[in-house]
Amino acid sequence: MQMKVVNSLKEHGLKVTPQRVTILSAIEKKGHANIDEIYQEAKTTNPTMSLATVYKNITSLIETKLLKEVAINNQKSKYELSKKPHSHLICKKCGNLEDIDSHNLFTLNSDKLDFDIEEVELNIYGICNQCKKSN
Ligand SMILES: [Zn+2]
Ligand SMILES: [Zn+2]
Repeated sequence: MQMKVVNSLKEHGLKVTPQRVTILSAIEKKGHANIDEIYQEAKTTNPTMSLATVYKNITSLIETKLLKEVAINNQKSKYELSKKPHSHLICKKCGNLEDIDSHNLFTLNSDKLDFDIEEVELNIYGICNQCKKSN
C-alpha cells in the first residue's frame, strides 16, 4: 500500500479501497494518464480490475477533487493528482504532456488586464523536443 495515496484518500474523506489505491498509484507513477493507460497500469497490480471499475472510481475521485481532469483537443482526457494550478505543454505529434508553471507569466500583466488573477491553467499546444529531433 502506498502511504501517500492512502493518506490523500483519507484527507478527502474517501474510503480506502484497493481499487482506488491501485488507480491513484498508477496515475502517480505516470504523472498524467488517460483512462486506457490507467487501466493497463492498474491491471498489472490488480488483474481483476475492469475498465468499468476504473471509470467509476475516477468519477468519484474527480468529484472529491483528488483527481483533476485535463481536457485535451483531439485526445482522450488525461488525469492527474490535484496539485497547485499549472499549465500544460502538449505535443501535437506524440501527445506528450508536460507541466509548466505559468502563473508568473500572467500575474506580471495583472495590472494591465485590470483583473486579479488567482489561477492560471492553460493548454499550450506545439511540438515537443523529442519530436523536433526526430524530424
Ligand atoms: Zn512529441
Ligand atoms: Zn499537470
